[in-house]
Amino acid sequence: FDDRDGWIWLDGSLVPWRDARLHVLSHGLHYASAVFEGERAYNGNIFRLRDHTNRLIGSGRWLAFEIPFTAAQIDAACAEVLAANGLTDGYVRPIAWRGSEQLAVSATGTSIHLAIGAWPWPSYFGAERMQGIRVGQADWRRPPPESAPVHAKAAGLYMIGSLAKLKAEQEGYADALMLDWRGRVAETTGANIFLVIDGELHTPVPDCFLDGITRRSVISLARRERMAVVERPIEPADLEKATEVFLAGTAAEVTAVREIGPHRFTPGRITETLMKAYDHLVLQAPEEVARIVG
Ligand code: PMP
Repeated sequence: FDDRDGWIWLDGSLVPWRDARLHVLSHGLHYASAVFEGERAYNGNIFRLRDHTNRLIGSGRWLAFEIPFTAAQIDAACAEVLAANGLTDGYVRPIAWRGSEQLAVSATGTSIHLAIGAWPWPSYFGAERMQGIRVGQADWRRPPPESAPVHAKAAGLYMIGSLAKLKAEQEGYADALMLDWRGRVAETTGANIFLVIDGELHTPVPDCFLDGITRRSVISLARRERMAVVERPIEPADLEKATEVFLAGTAAEVTAVREIGPHRFTPGRITETLMKAYDHLVLQAPEEVARIVG
């Protein structure tokens, strides 16, 4: 991914893609003292950009560092790197990390860096987004909030998700369902999950995983459609009662699920309605998005 044309925004200026390097003795690489975002641009607008930027800054604070740029500067940099790469639609990836001033576990005295890349990424799950993807079951669980900064989009937490996704793909699945430390349904490796039970939308309480920006958009859209939305603890046995299941995330957008382990679902009216509503929402101007989903 490093040998291509294009521009990366690095610590305040655009540098050629191939030159955006860091030293191998960087704290962020050794101890996962890094936080990132995943954003999508549609028609030249990054969807809910300020929410992503605020989460990035907040994730840094969970890791006890302050990103040395304001939210307005980060927003502008995201837009700048998108335009520099000639993109109006695509994925935007800001990442902040601790530098290479020292390599003890202690992070004292390290500088904080910020880089932003952008590239085309049409659909995370391709054509299966409508038909429904097959999801396996992860061996690894989401840790409790006492064990990790679970509300940060922190690189370290993605060690767990990355292992789960790799194994799922090796077994022929598109993704993996992750349970939390209590054995409850949490999320997949890169998206939140919704179940349709008796015509209502059920989704787990995000008390040990990301309360995704897409998740919150989908909940608002569902309520606007006068659907009942229930946030509650969800047990694996609840999957048996679900008729439809779908995922929600920036990269995944709204993606139908047709299989999780022994359970089968048929993407139906509710998934389709929310998928269409979300696809419509992301194309609106930022003020209109704010008006619709707050
Ligand atoms: N959970 C995980 C583990 C994720 O990586 C993502 C994607 N950022 C989400 C949930 C969904 O978050 P969002 O809708 O803000 O992209």
